[in-house]
Amino acid sequence: MKTLIKGGTIVNADAMFRADVLVDGEEIALIGVDLDVPADKVIDATGKWIIPGGIDGHTHMELPFGGTFAKDTFETGTRAAAFGGTTTIIDFAVQPMGGTFHQGLDIWHEKADGKACIDYGFHMIVSDMRDELLPEMDRLVEEGVTDFKLFTAYPGVFYSDDARIFKALRQTTRNGGLILMHAENGPVIDVVAADLVAQGTTDPIGHGLARYPVFEGEATNRVIRLAKAAGAPVYFVHLSATDALDEVRQAHHEGLPVFAETCPQYLFLGLDDLGNGFEGSKFVCSPPLRDWKAGHQAELWKGLISDDLQLVGTDHCPFDFHGQKELGRGDFRKIPNGLPGVEERVDLVHDGGVVSGKITPSRWVELVSTAPARIFGLPKKGSVSVGLDADIVVYDPNRKHVLSAKTHHMDVDYSCYEGREVQGGSDVVISRGKVVVENGQWLGSAGHGKFLRREPRGFAEATRSKLAKPAPAAVG
Ligand SMILES: [Zn+2]
Repeated sequence: MKTLIKGGTIVNADAMFRADVLVDGEEIALIGVDLDVPADKVIDATGKWIIPGGIDGHTHMELPFGGTFAKDTFETGTRAAAFGGTTTIIDFAVQPMGGTFHQGLDIWHEKADGKACIDYGFHMIVSDMRDELLPEMDRLVEEGVTDFKLFTAYPGVFYSDDARIFKALRQTTRNGGLILMHAENGPVIDVVAADLVAQGTTDPIGHGLARYPVFEGEATNRVIRLAKAAGAPVYFVHLSATDALDEVRQAHHEGLPVFAETCPQYLFLGLDDLGNGFEGSKFVCSPPLRDWKAGHQAELWKGLISDDLQLVGTDHCPFDFHGQKELGRGDFRKIPNGLPGVEERVDLVHDGGVVSGKITPSRWVELVSTAPARIFGLPKKGSVSVGLDADIVVYDPNRKHVLSAKTHHMDVDYSCYEGREVQGGSDVVISRGKVVVENGQWLGSAGHGKFLRREPRGFAEATRSKLAKPAPAAVG
């Protein structure tokens, strides 16, 4: 099967140029001006952009949390992702408390195998970093599950103390893995949250008020220092606050190998969304949405421009308002944490970044596709280049559409961006050579998506442009 995409402009992270693209089977076979070659299917991309499919490095399909499960399955979640121009996700498998990493991984393979509509990889959430599991980390890296998420938040659930974090960081200097951190000071947040509830603040706004930005900044700095001591790189998921960004900037001034992502909700939403009574539960995620007046959102955009923030993931973790978010009526601490977003990321960052003039089209592609491919070890993804997987989106940078739960494909009963008009949309989406979305029609199938064994972080370091330098020597 050969598909020829004609008349468009290729937008890669490093260049933007007019060219046609020939897809042969699952790969990009040929790129050139006015290609005149036989093909089974021709797609007219006149006036459109040809971009590498989005890579969302942060999703939680069917995540158990707070007595319920994130609603999207691998089938519904990856289908929604594809409609939004994303052709790869990396989802978080969860180690069961007291169990091994592989027990968690087996469960996630079962959830995804035969159901995913686009390609997928896994990160491993570490619930319980026991010493005897350190060698198992090495085996996971060899099996292509190359990073591990630890938490300074959620005491009693996912929380790891400093010693456990340090040991995990040190292990990655031996096995080439990468530690991903949820950095908020959970034990202290719990003190403030309990005070708020005791004083009668039980609505969702309490979630935002309890989790001070400084608690994220403190935990970010602490982990950066632990990583420096271990001689390990570290990656911060869902960075939301100026306090944390300043610590990452300082680390970059020092030449430390520190990566950080932010998410659309921290760029486009704010603390005031958590108001409005229990409606605010739709916006409960951790870290929380931050106060516009304090300037967090503007600083995060600056971070994306300066490359102190390297990419945008979603932390897609959808819970219905009815029946799931409602578990937290009367106590914001019981609201399941998470928002839907896997479908909206590419368009939101285009609209808020490119259309508004903050970033170039190439930087947008880097943030939503190329940087995650590099950092998370996916050498066949993240660029429209010969020999790479034909994960391609024909993108209309001018088409305007309105985000709404009535029209989105995520299996969740609300949209965080209900009624927001965005400019830019995916017209044709190709996953490893197969057209899965064309002009709003679903042509994909469950089971088309393959598990991706990822490369260890040496790959990420070798391909880093701006901050590339070897990790500092271990101390002691
Ligand atoms: Zn997450």
